[in-house]
Amino acid sequence: MHFRWKYCISLSFLAIFYLCGCYAPPAFKPITTVKPPKKVEPYIVSQLDRYFVRDWKYIVIHHSASPSGCAVEFDKYHREKRGWENGLGYHFVIGNGHGSGDGEIEIGNRWINQIDGAHAGVQEYNHYGIGICLVGNFNESYPTAAQMASLSALVGYLQDRCHISSENIIMHRHFRQTECPGRNFPYYKVLAKTVRW
Ligand SMILES: [Zn+2]
Repeated sequence: MHFRWKYCISLSFLAIFYLCGCYAPPAFKPITTVKPPKKVEPYIVSQLDRYFVRDWKYIVIHHSASPSGCAVEFDKYHREKRGWENGLGYHFVIGNGHGSGDGEIEIGNRWINQIDGAHAGVQEYNHYGIGICLVGNFNESYPTAAQMASLSALVGYLQDRCHISSENIIMHRHFRQTECPGRNFPYYKVLAKTVRW
């Protein structure tokens, strides 16, 4: 009898714990999962370290001014509509999930072959500027968290590899009559993460 009581008390405690577990509020789950830069960086290094680099002075940031797109699409447009035989005017394109992956970095032919960009509209910046285009229209929307993470990692890598000073990380509108890369582009976030030379 003595043992039975002990058994009952133990069972009651177990039942209480079980019920509390059942009625506990659901555990917090993050709404989005963003690819952090520390995962992007090794990927960038493995992809880009294989290419020889020539002298570059600037990193010029653009937006595509379109809600979707990818390197192949822009390449076609630049070849067929602009008549540029080297195609894609940018060295890199960072996708937003519409046309290519969210935060995906596409490496253009002009980077692989280390040739001048066709993105700046000014000779100095086309010759010495590495053109990075983020897919999106940042007058109307914002770059995604994954795009910004990839941009920061890419800019950090390029600064390091090409010895580009932080004041030479610029937006297209810094030297040209344009809104590119859009009024909503958070330039300060890029600068906040750059390497100081
Ligand atoms: Zn631009």
